Amino acid sequence: MILAIANQKGGVGKTTTSINLAASLAAMRREVLLVDLDPQGNATTGSGIEKGDSPYSTYDVLIEGLSVDEAKINVESAGYHLLPANADLSGADVELLDVPEWEYRLRRALAPVNEQYDYIIIDCPPSLSLLTLTGLVASDGVIIPMQCEYYALEGLTALIGTISRITGKLNPDLEIKGIVRTMFDPRNRLAKEVSNDLIDHFGDTVFHSVIPRNVRLAEAPSYGVPIMYYDKQSRGARGYLALAGELAKRLEQKD
Ligand code: ATP
Ligand code: MG
Repeated sequence: MILAIANQKGGVGKTTTSINLAASLAAMRREVLLVDLDPQGNATTGSGIEKGDSPYSTYDVLIEGLSVDEAKINVESAGYHLLPANADLSGADVELLDVPEWEYRLRRALAPVNEQYDYIIIDCPPSLSLLTLTGLVASDGVIIPMQCEYYALEGLTALIGTISRITGKLNPDLEIKGIVRTMFDPRNRLAKEVSNDLIDHFGDTVFHSVIPRNVRLAEAPSYGVPIMYYDKQSRGARGYLALAGELAKRLEQKD
């Protein structure tokens, strides 16, 4: 199952969700590959991999045609494999245009390793760039992290429309597998209202598990480990473990 974690809006918790979902699923004994598709490389550094730790990156896979098996790293401290990103990837958005059938590049690169993993999680950049498009075309489903703020619902409706338009021909089977509320503060009345509206509109697509605003989640990346290896008892760690459990139940029942 290949899942893109996507939202064109910046700073909504895509990378935090990618890393911690990957680690939580791995802790549940699933085989997981995390793909860093963002030139910012936050999923890479947040996994404890520094620039220079790895000779290859997602760039080499997308542009140079290197295999995922050659480019991936086994991140033992987090329990998953990682296809790391670095700044090279910022060039890829333009260079991809010269690659024949670039839209399918990631999909074809992941196909030979898909059987090795229960979950391949793709951390997308905050834009609807060519990179994001390759991520969406490669995926079976999308998970959308969102903050319950004013205008969030409008943004979400637009995002879902855009996703279906841009992937309509290239990947018609792509499904929205879930919307996850991130950085949630139940004491904030607006957040609660937006959350209720969200459930009214999208029903069961919204995960029951909610990720609370929790400073431990913001601290963990500077230690290069997922939250569960930084502060297992934190509300953030429990939130992501619950989300991973809910996701696995949702997806593995249907299969
Ligand atoms: P970008 O669009 O730049 O890729 P993003 O959507 O990947 O951003 P993150 O990097 O995951 O978002 O999160 C943005 C910031 O908020 C980071 O500093 C992160 O540590 C922090 N953060 C994420 N989730 C939470 C949370 N639940 N509680 C507190 N801080 C959080
Ligand atoms: Mg990010």
